[in-house]
Amino acid sequence: MTHVSERVQALAPSATLAMSQKSAELKAQGVDVINLSVGEPDFNTPAHIKEAAKKAIDDNFTFYTPVAGYMSLRKAVSEKLKRENGVDYAPEQIVVANGAKQALCNVILASINPGDEVVIPMPAWVSYVEMVKLAGGTVVSVDADITQDFKITPDQLEKAITPATRMLLLCSPSNPTGSVYSREELQAIVDVLAKHPDVMVLADEIYEHINFTGSFTSMAAFPEIADRVILINGVSKAYAMTGWRIGYCAAPLWLAKAVTKLQGQYTSNASSIAQKAAEAAYTGSQECVAEMNEAFRRRRDLVVELASDIPGLKVNRPQGAFYLFPEVSAYIGKTTLEGKKIECSADLAMYLLESGHVATVDGGAFGMEGYIRLSYATSDDNIREALRRMKEALLALK
Ligand code: PMP
Ligand code: GLU
Repeated sequence: MTHVSERVQALAPSATLAMSQKSAELKAQGVDVINLSVGEPDFNTPAHIKEAAKKAIDDNFTFYTPVAGYMSLRKAVSEKLKRENGVDYAPEQIVVANGAKQALCNVILASINPGDEVVIPMPAWVSYVEMVKLAGGTVVSVDADITQDFKITPDQLEKAITPATRMLLLCSPSNPTGSVYSREELQAIVDVLAKHPDVMVLADEIYEHINFTGSFTSMAAFPEIADRVILINGVSKAYAMTGWRIGYCAAPLWLAKAVTKLQGQYTSNASSIAQKAAEAAYTGSQECVAEMNEAFRRRRDLVVELASDIPGLKVNRPQGAFYLFPEVSAYIGKTTLEGKKIECSADLAMYLLESGHVATVDGGAFGMEGYIRLSYATSDDNIREALRRMKEALLALK
């Protein structure tokens, strides 16, 4: 028999992970696929961080840790937030989780009741909507397409807020678009929020360090709303540590306590060894972060140049993260050589995979039909060859 809960039946599978899995399966069958689907840095974790993990094993950091993480790591995060972002969260307000993904889900499950509304600017990372659904909350989408550089306006936010709104979920630099809100743009959003004291802000700042604007403003840096801002961050992207699974929330104390209670019942602490590695990431030299950022900036220039050269694609110039989100509607409605009609951007992503052997992700998975997402966290050679294949495959459509 099978008996899958309604809760899980209602969940959509993660499209980013599904596409990456499909690309890995094709590769295993001997197909030469270039994977621009999953978003993870292609760099190895820096040596000093790996050394700290080896030392942690030798020093027997192999027992359960406090549910919210080692105090030494929570202190290191608190100091990082002060040093780099100018914001104040005491170590007791930091809860370390198995990646930023769990940190986000923890906060949503610990603060959203059925019927509560969560405002999410679209396009948005695939998991936000599903996490809100898990909590029984209602997603209120606010669309920001390429014509507004994928950023919502204060006016749009004002219109989306109702008496039932509990939270705004904002991601900057953004997955899937790479857009970065400037300090002025954030201030305008904050001015709206200041009028609605019951709305919390869940700010996903995981791409903070992959940012080509030269400056980053944390959502918690605005005193008008700082006491209801929950920051999400972690080591996956900035330190090339996706597999280590360390992220955290920095939250008001009441919420940090609720999150700790929740996590204490279903995963306990994140890996003791990975926590020690993350501590080394935050307290050690930050040169690796700047080097990787520079590599991503160079690749951004390359991918924008090559994608702009494909007729029909509309491309913005992302200011951060490692994604490009081109508008592809010029190719929707066209037909493949085999006579199959491309009905939507999901069909186009599948066509690019099967005919062009390039894995991308359908924009529909991020709440915006008519786009695809490319992750350019890969070598220059892969980017060149992938974009060459995409151009050839797209031009073959009639
Ligand atoms: N937020 C965003 C916007 C992401 O793209 C990701 C994907 N890695 C995460 C959170 C989760 O990151 P992790 O769980 O690897 O820390
Ligand atoms: N966040 C990355 C992405 O968007 C990793 C996969 C995932 O966790 O969804 O591709």
